[in-house]
Parts: sequence; C-alpha cells; structure tokens
Amino acid sequence: MKIGLRGGHSPNCKGAVGILDEQTEVRKIYNALAPILQAAGHTVVNCNSDAYSVSGELSEGTNKANSNGCDVYITIHMNASGGAGNGTEVWLYDGSNGTMNSIADNICNNFAKKGFQNRGRKYNTGYHDLNASAMPAMIVETLFCDNSHDVGLYNSLGTSGVAELIAKGIAGQTVSGGVTVSVPSSTSSVSEGDAGVVFTYAVKLTDGTILPFVENLSDYAGLPGKTVAGIAVRVNKGTVKYRAHSKESGWYPYVTGCDWNDIINGWAGDNGATIDAVEVYYETPADIVENYGYQKAQYRVAPVGGAYYAWQFDNEKDEQQDGFAGVFGIAFDRFQLF
Ligand SMILES: [Zn+2]
Repeated sequence: MKIGLRGGHSPNCKGAVGILDEQTEVRKIYNALAPILQAAGHTVVNCNSDAYSVSGELSEGTNKANSNGCDVYITIHMNASGGAGNGTEVWLYDGSNGTMNSIADNICNNFAKKGFQNRGRKYNTGYHDLNASAMPAMIVETLFCDNSHDVGLYNSLGTSGVAELIAKGIAGQTVSGGVTVSVPSSTSSVSEGDAGVVFTYAVKLTDGTILPFVENLSDYAGLPGKTVAGIAVRVNKGTVKYRAHSKESGWYPYVTGCDWNDIINGWAGDNGATIDAVEVYYETPADIVENYGYQKAQYRVAPVGGAYYAWQFDNEKDEQQDGFAGVFGIAFDRFQLF
C-alpha cells in the first residue's frame, strides 16, 4: 500500500500539552512507524507539516496524501481531557469501509492488550483529515497525554513499542498481552514473527501467465485487473495446506505441494477456471509450538479493482472471518499471505 502517514499538528502549532507534549511525541511515533511500514513492503508518504496554523497544518497533510495518490491516510495523535480520560480510540469517516474498520479495531485491540482502555472505533464526518482526504483515512488517538496511567504505559513501551502496535494493526496482526508499567521488560512480547515462518506464494492468471513468487508481505501475488486461475504456496518450516474455490466447481481439493507442473498436488485451482476464494491452513511444527506458540496463516484477497477484504487466519470463523478469503462469484486480482 501507499500510506500517507502523519504525526499530527506542527512544531509551530502544537496540539495537546499534558504530561507529554502531543506534537513532539507523535512525531517520534511517526519516525518509528515509517520504517516498520516500509520494511513490511509499504510505500510511506511523509505528510507531516511545519505550518503555523491549524488550517495550514491540516490541509498540508491532506494535500500531500492527495497529490501523491495514497491508498490510505493515517494520522497519529494523542488525546487530552484534563487528566481523567484514558485509552485508545480510532476515528473514521464512517463505517462503510470494512478494511478500515478492521484496521481500526486491530489497533484498538493491540493497545488494549498492553493495558490501555479500548475506547473503540468512532465516526465523524466533520474532521478535516477524514473528509478532505481523497482516500480512506483514519485518526489514531493513541492515548491521553495528560493521563498518568496512559503516560506510564507509553513510557514503558517506548515510541517503537507503540509504533509496533499500530503497524501490526495495519497488517491485521494482533499482539500478545501483558505489559505493565512496573514490568517494562515484557515489551518484548510485542515482537511476534520471531518464529521465522516465511510463506512463498504466487498466482497463475486465467490467461495462463504464471507470475513471480513473493515472500510474506514483501509484495502481493497478482496483477491489478487480472483474474486468477490458481495459487501455489510453500512455507520454510512446518507444512501448509490450501485450496481454492470457483463459482463453477466449488472447492477444489486441498493441496500441500508447490509446483506449477504438478496438477494434482502442486497448486490450488484449475486451468481455465476463475477462482474467487482461497483457504490457507498452517500446521505449526512442534518446536515452534513449544517456543512461540501456534502460528497461523494470515491471508487476504482483493476483488478486481477493489480494496482488500478482511484478513483471515487459517480457517477460523468469527464476526470478521469467513474461514476463507474471498467472496463466491467475485474474482480477485491480489493475494497476500504471511
Ligand atoms: Zn491531536
């Protein structure tokens, strides 16, 4: 994704000042977050501003996001309420974008895992960041900068720890819980992915073209506007089983191999078919279970010309997950897995 990213306000036009100076801290969070997002394969457009007025800094941010054609615009803030309020909330224009809803929920949940109150996802059509941006946008109110509980957690996590919570929310990942102000060493629980599981995957287009393999979130498999006949997946540790669905044939059998020349067990799909959904299930080897816990295949697809549907984890079903990625009868052109 091309992400327009902004630490709110301007050094010349401050935001809230409580125990912490909001503007100073959110610019630090920006500096920690941008490289994490870039390492995950995103392009980050710097939408920070040094303007001298509120209207100036707000419009400079959205102008940069709009003129660079960003896919999403994310601004980072801190709340203040005289010391009484605390917790994390994420503002969206409205609830119509499922992907943005998911990211907002993920971010709030990740902060909550670290001890912040989950104030949840909220909507406002009156905020400049949300209504002047040409792309889906969100305002992340990370915490209350004048609340001692929140500031204690923030100091314990550090700006990079807070940036990780946002980055993982954007990636559809949740973090494990348990940091407290008195036990700063447990911030290490933020860094998941240490299990070193790497998925390598590719798609075959319905015109027969086989596209290059990609790894984890370094890119996506697919080509915008091109429908998909099949996917091939392998993993460096443990085993992966996966299958594909087409409107005409329903679910094809599970496969575990990764070889375009093996029509039986080398890829999921069918020559000449257009697949509309995929399911990926990761079987975690015992040594990884022991050291890192069970790992899941996390994957998603985007309909041709549209935004990604919500991330799916293995074949789990809940309010956010169907047990597979895709919508029956709607072709997709991008697939991601990590
Ligand atoms: Zn602010």
